[in-house]
Amino acid sequence: MGHLQVTYFALFMVPDINAEADYNEWEREGAEGWNYNDLRPSVNSIRGYKKHFTIEEIDTFLNPKDSVQPLPIRIYDRTNTEPLVHGKLEDRIPVDLNTPRGTMGTATWAACIDNDGCRSSAATAYLTDDVLARPNLFVAVNCCVERILFENENSTPRAVGVELRTARNGPLFRVLASREVILSAGAYGTPHLLMVSGIGPEKELVEKKITVIKHLPAVGKNLVDHPTCGFVAYRTKGVPTYDYLNNPLNALFALAQWYMTGKGPMATLVAPGGAFVRSVPMIVLDETVHKPPSGMQGITLGVACLRPKSSGEITLKTDNIWDKPTVDPKWFSDEHDMHVLARGVRLLLKIARTKPLVDFVDYREDKRYPFLWPGTQDPVELTEEQLHDFIRTNSRLAWHPACTARMGKSEGSSVVNAKLKVHGIQSLRIIDVSIFPKQISGHPCAPIIAIAEKAADMIKEAYSVQ
Ligand SMILES: Cc1cc2nc3c(=O)[nH]c(=O)nc-3n(C[C@H](O)[C@H](O)[C@H](O)COP(=O)(O)OP(=O)(O)OC[C@H]3O[C@@H](n4cnc5c(N)ncnc54)[C@H](O)[C@@H]3O)c2cc1C
Repeated sequence: MGHLQVTYFALFMVPDINAEADYNEWEREGAEGWNYNDLRPSVNSIRGYKKHFTIEEIDTFLNPKDSVQPLPIRIYDRTNTEPLVHGKLEDRIPVDLNTPRGTMGTATWAACIDNDGCRSSAATAYLTDDVLARPNLFVAVNCCVERILFENENSTPRAVGVELRTARNGPLFRVLASREVILSAGAYGTPHLLMVSGIGPEKELVEKKITVIKHLPAVGKNLVDHPTCGFVAYRTKGVPTYDYLNNPLNALFALAQWYMTGKGPMATLVAPGGAFVRSVPMIVLDETVHKPPSGMQGITLGVACLRPKSSGEITLKTDNIWDKPTVDPKWFSDEHDMHVLARGVRLLLKIARTKPLVDFVDYREDKRYPFLWPGTQDPVELTEEQLHDFIRTNSRLAWHPACTARMGKSEGSSVVNAKLKVHGIQSLRIIDVSIFPKQISGHPCAPIIAIAEKAADMIKEAYSVQ
């Protein structure tokens, strides 16, 4: 069992389900039965909703708040709205994210909590004590699956199990499957494991002296993420930001407040809010990325390109799973992404100079702190080249890699079919972010969990299990 959903979902926990058009495009890409309406029941089955007291018009079809059953993922919009975020961009961008009017607009991010008010993750939501006690479930942690085992059945390979170890030179365990092997190793791990097991681009496998089980050229290709511009940092004046928590006493007080009341800064997300804007996708106010010098408080703003046209690849360094593969995201290989980010940076610089942020941001240039945005520069006068330079120097990914074992009809351009079964292999299914046919314009966790729910229903149906 892996950990990324556990750790990182708990860190950020932004559980949006994103735009309807994303999933309808999936179907056009060959993922039959995966349009928005198809996925909607699975979405609704994973989320309970606790309404935000300041936002009346939440679309209850997206957020079914009257659920009778306790649902695995409970979504909670924080009640302490951030003065720097919520409602303040509304002159420019509507405050109506996830309402019947659509998924564009700004809001504070929602978070996932469990029934005790603690942060929830896929693991804490699904692997509850009663589930872990089931006799037909064995959870092995800190293991690395080295390869998938195959048998040849009527000349079509069939996955029959896996081999795993707890350390590179540790003892080898063989786990056999009575029905299917299900692979959920993520956007990097899934293509890596497929390739060392003999499924992938034939030429690359042969180069690494791996016996080819199935030539599937799309394995490890089409890698997309959400490239961001990096962070534009401003010093603030006259208002505290979460940087006051850099003082251990303040942090201790905040922790005590959270223990006693469940509220306060410790009950918030590292990125408090954001906006979805067409062609100029996301603005996040965040305080964590640049730790300012002691005594200085500030905010950072960033923008991400949600539908990048550049795509990268994952290739093998060796035939051994313990050697990490090469991940080449090929950022900005398509100029579109740079243009989108540049437009986004220009927009957020303007927002920082618009009320109310303009009252809180201290624009003075200070050569001692080169990470601060030189506020004397007028966003309108900045050249494209200057923006591109900033982006090239600072850009980073949003940790949303996807599509490296994409779903589709053709063996030439995809890895799994609409049942999430690997083309040309029996009894091998993939259920994770790597099967996205196309990148989505938002956070991936909630859609991945919805995909897993839908896949579980398909599997139960295939084996006539209730
Ligand atoms: C810092 C960070 C913050 C994020 N914040 C958010 C957010 O706020 N909202 C959101 O929606 N998404 C967020 N994401 C993205 C989200 O975590 C991922 O998209 C999601 O976890 C992918 O889920 P998955 O099940 O496909 O794969 P993963 O969660 O990556 O699970 C795959 C697991 O398989 C394991 N594995 C790989 N290879 C092997 C092998 N050979 N043997 C055994 N195990 C193996 C890996 O260690 C990994 O734990 C964030 C990601 C990061 C890194």
